Amino acid sequence: MDCDKCGSSAVMHAAYSGLHMCESCFTRSVEKRVRRRVREDGLVPDDATPEEPVTWLIGLSGGKDSVVLTQILHETFAQDPRIELVALTIHEGIAGYRDESVDACVELVEELDIRHEVVGYAEEFGLEMDDVAADDPMNMAPCAYCGVFRRDLLAKYADEYEADLLLTGHNLDDEAQTAMMNFLEGDVAQVAKHFDASLGPLDERSEQDTFVPRAKPLRDVPEKEVALYAHLRDLPAHITECPHSSEAFRGEIQQLLLKLEEDHPGTRHSILAGYEELASIVSDRYGDGTADLGECEECGAATTREQCRKCQLVEAITS
Ligand SMILES: [Zn+2]
Ligand SMILES: [Zn+2]
Repeated sequence: MDCDKCGSSAVMHAAYSGLHMCESCFTRSVEKRVRRRVREDGLVPDDATPEEPVTWLIGLSGGKDSVVLTQILHETFAQDPRIELVALTIHEGIAGYRDESVDACVELVEELDIRHEVVGYAEEFGLEMDDVAADDPMNMAPCAYCGVFRRDLLAKYADEYEADLLLTGHNLDDEAQTAMMNFLEGDVAQVAKHFDASLGPLDERSEQDTFVPRAKPLRDVPEKEVALYAHLRDLPAHITECPHSSEAFRGEIQQLLLKLEEDHPGTRHSILAGYEELASIVSDRYGDGTADLGECEECGAATTREQCRKCQLVEAITS
């Protein structure tokens, strides 16, 4: 097959667009989609100047999504003195798995020469996910603890580094899955939290997130294309799945969406577009749920309760 754009030999076919693309047209198209998101979501503030640059904190796990995001943002902004990139890697205490992905992160940031910070659950909370998964004191999936701790640290360090924006590498499949899960669970409050009017759609902000705005510029790119991009550009991404991964419901939704996408190409794009439209309406009507937040009496994180969810979990695990 030939590339629909330039006639060279194609390396991929996207059913949702009908396009065959060669290596260079494909990689350029991924980069264009990320840059368009940055532009359309208004991520670079009008008043950013070389004298007063803004700091963007990227959650860098070492998996393909965050590695591709970091690479493209670096190439886009390396020559732009208005933007300073900082990469934050969180070590959950998962033997083998996270050590290898931290190696991938280090290789990438050394190559790109960007500031890199590594923080861990062990130093921060006095626990490791391997032990939490084995004990499971609250009787819930390991991912449920881990998500709370990860969001807490992203928010904490975004605050500490005075970041203006917190960026994560969620791709189109991740976002379409989350949208479907919230629909099927009837979680309207969660829909509203997806959206920040000034910045467009944001991550599902939990109660312990601070108010550093969040952005996901990779969300127009399907997971398979992120993987292909990382492969074609030979980026140091660590591809093994977390050994504790157990989000059964998400797995079912993933299978369902892949089947729908096969039969009706473009389904993921339309789910996400509709979800974002809905989120903006819900958020206008109900607010984004941050109105009645106070501070956790133990750690000071924003919460609607006396003690934030993270502190509750740490207490249950370590007591
Ligand atoms: Zn081409
Ligand atoms: Zn707390």
